[in-house]
Amino acid sequence: MNELVGLSIGSIRQRLVDCQLSTVELVDAYLSHISSQDRALGSFLHVDADGARAAARALDQRIQSGDDLPRLAGTVVAVKDNITVKGLPATAGSRILAGYDPPYDATVVARLRAAGVIIIGKTNLDEFAMGASTEQSAWHPTKNPRDPERVPGGSSGGSAAAVAAGMCTVALGSDTGGSIRQPAAFCGLVGVRPTYGSVSRYGLIAMASSMDVIGPLARSVADARQVLAAIAGYDPDDATTLPHVNLSARAGQTSLTGRRVGVPKEYVAGITDQEVRDSLSATVDRLGAAGAEVIEVSLPTTALAVPTYYVITPAEASSNLARYDGLRFGQPSDRTHGHGAASARLRGQLFGREPKRRITIGTFTLSAGYADRYYHAAQRVRTLIRQDFARVFDQVDLLLTPVAPTPAFPLGSVADPLAMYQQDIFLAAVSLAGLPAAAIPVPTSGQLPVGAQLIGRSGDDNLLLDVAEGLEQALPVSP
Ligand code: GLN
Repeated sequence: MNELVGLSIGSIRQRLVDCQLSTVELVDAYLSHISSQDRALGSFLHVDADGARAAARALDQRIQSGDDLPRLAGTVVAVKDNITVKGLPATAGSRILAGYDPPYDATVVARLRAAGVIIIGKTNLDEFAMGASTEQSAWHPTKNPRDPERVPGGSSGGSAAAVAAGMCTVALGSDTGGSIRQPAAFCGLVGVRPTYGSVSRYGLIAMASSMDVIGPLARSVADARQVLAAIAGYDPDDATTLPHVNLSARAGQTSLTGRRVGVPKEYVAGITDQEVRDSLSATVDRLGAAGAEVIEVSLPTTALAVPTYYVITPAEASSNLARYDGLRFGQPSDRTHGHGAASARLRGQLFGREPKRRITIGTFTLSAGYADRYYHAAQRVRTLIRQDFARVFDQVDLLLTPVAPTPAFPLGSVADPLAMYQQDIFLAAVSLAGLPAAAIPVPTSGQLPVGAQLIGRSGDDNLLLDVAEGLEQALPVSP
């Protein structure tokens, strides 16, 4: 593999500054890697070779004219296809958005461009980010670069596969109930879900708005942090962004000495795979050896997270997906039968099974007569879940848990929707509580990557990333 495609954000910038590399050379290395690899993997839905080369030439000209280089100069980014990039398609993995040409950049994309990145393309996902394997894309499944018989995880599986296979420097994903963290773990990457509201959702095609966040998939905590620092912060175009977010581009205190890390016993009890169990206990041992104080804690509402998540997210999704009538976005279609009838027919034809399932469930749980029994009850449980975390964060600085119950599973092996929902058992509670969490690769005796999840207090993303970086240093994981 061409060594250029494995470079970190910092080393790319340094080589550009030192004139040891041109941006055009770097982009060409990624493009030729995509041509040779991606037919088999299916990470991308759209590769913007011309746009990436044009942006690379423009950056090289700036370098030649002696301009100061922005922090992410030359970083090559792939963007999940539910995030808008002006001039590129945005299908969110759905036929109902085929042909949609978004007229604007998402705030995260505008901020990355201002920081000097090159956008190389749009990546595959489960339709409308509903899923945990990227098999539920309307277009094609994505394969795991570590073992192409297996899924890369989901729903940001295209982004994870693209980074893991060296087809971009970093990628953007979105995480509603684990869609950054689980594919990161399955592909041996770092994936960060920042505190809800710390990164703008403007330009993110909504699934469940009270939980959707955008974040990075990267090969190191340092790279993930650079991306987060560039995209985070208040945005007047997203009223749910927090006013005072300060995500630092630089590591603070990464020493683990004296850090209090809680391991929730209900999460440990939920592990079904011996490799995952062994990896977590090896990680706990290393944390202890590096001076952290590891404490067993209890989160009694753990078992309620998945059922609560799968009441609230379909409710929000059914409302968010109501705008797709098959007429306003995407391909011009036949309007001769009147709007109502045409829309019902097109929604029936163009939505896949999982969005239909969630629209149906959500419409039911929000309906008069049932909302109290389901939607409002779930909101009350959501409050209990938040309170559970608040209580343990009085005792500890961070929590350590597994990411997924098993390593990446074979394509086609999880066919039952409820079994797919169980992929989220270690992920959904964090989303319901709006907390920041990072997946990082940990040592394993098996052939497939295993990740651990660090969970932080709301707004404490800098501490979370410092400890993640400390842990990364304490746990050298071979690629
Ligand atoms: N697996 C979860 C779901 O299907 C997570 C999706 C996500 O985070 N976008 O809802």
